[in-house]
Amino acid sequence: MLDQYERKIEYVRISLTDRCNLRCRYCMPEEGVTKLCHADILNFAEILRVVRGLAALGVKKVRLTGGEPLVRRGITDLIRQIRQVPGIEQVVLTTNGVLLPEMGADLLQAGLTGLNISLDTLRPETFAQITRRPLFERVQAGLEQMLSLGMTDIKFNCVPIYEVNDEEIPALAALAKDYSVKVRFIELMPIGCAYEVGYEGVPMDEVRARLTKAYGSLHPVGRKIDRLQGPAEYYKVPGFKGQVGFIDAMEHKFCATCNRVRLTAEGFLKLCLNQKTGLDLRALLRNGISDENLKLALRQAIYRKPAEHLFTDRENTARDSRAMYQVGG
Ligand code: SAM
Ligand code: SF4
Repeated sequence: MLDQYERKIEYVRISLTDRCNLRCRYCMPEEGVTKLCHADILNFAEILRVVRGLAALGVKKVRLTGGEPLVRRGITDLIRQIRQVPGIEQVVLTTNGVLLPEMGADLLQAGLTGLNISLDTLRPETFAQITRRPLFERVQAGLEQMLSLGMTDIKFNCVPIYEVNDEEIPALAALAKDYSVKVRFIELMPIGCAYEVGYEGVPMDEVRARLTKAYGSLHPVGRKIDRLQGPAEYYKVPGFKGQVGFIDAMEHKFCATCNRVRLTAEGFLKLCLNQKTGLDLRALLRNGISDENLKLALRQAIYRKPAEHLFTDRENTARDSRAMYQVGG
């Protein structure tokens, strides 16, 4: 369906939990996190009703995220069931990769069509510093596992931060030299505790410049090849098997082509990453709304999707206070 600005909404990102087995400094505090209790989060039957409603309105792609989605029990069953919803073409996952060694095969068998692994460093000690957990080897094993299982659509998400991992920008991009994967650099956003911990994100223009210096010119890959694609702009690098991508969250707004809505773990339909506006679907579902009225409510809410995220507008009173681990990225 189209929203009020005639953007075609075809993609939903569903956060399955606010819990996580890492504590990335820019995302989640080490202590004092109030976790949602089990009764507060949507159960699978409720999630499936929302997916069916959205699919009937034209949504074709579902991304499962978190917190860490792989800590939600039964996720493989959920993937299997979402794959059966008429109209859904892609079911993909964003994960920190820690649980891939044991879960990867089941995820593929359940019908997962794509995988984003968040990886900000290739150094075990930097990994432990950023995530506060010494689990780099598990992520590495998870990647090897997925490649050996023949997973083809793998993307890496890297958030470059000055004096934390910025020296590794060329090395991280080189994952796409050795493997047929996409390495996407994402600008640090002013959400959650990103700035409180003193992190300063590297602007994407600088990331591009550093990669050009290291590898020569970057050649843009045409957009619109995959209409369900996210906001990344992709480039070919001479000699690379895969591609590198950039998500200019702050400087170059991606809002004009935004094709997505989000569902939080507690069932709030979020219409924009940085804005409060949305719809409490859990209340509607638990008050016995019919499928037809659910579809109508979804349609009316999505129509009101805001024009832009307003990250740089400090006066924005509609700003959402949810942290990234409560939204899923
Ligand atoms: N736990 C999973 C993971 O890490 O992939 C899924 C949820 S996590 C919130 C999704 C993505 O959000 C990760 O790639 C993470 O790097 C990114 N993220 C978290 N906080 C961010 C921030 N302040 N700015 C930019 N990206 C952020
Ligand atoms: Fe967990 Fe992902 Fe946030 Fe890191 S970025 S703390 S892995 S939810």
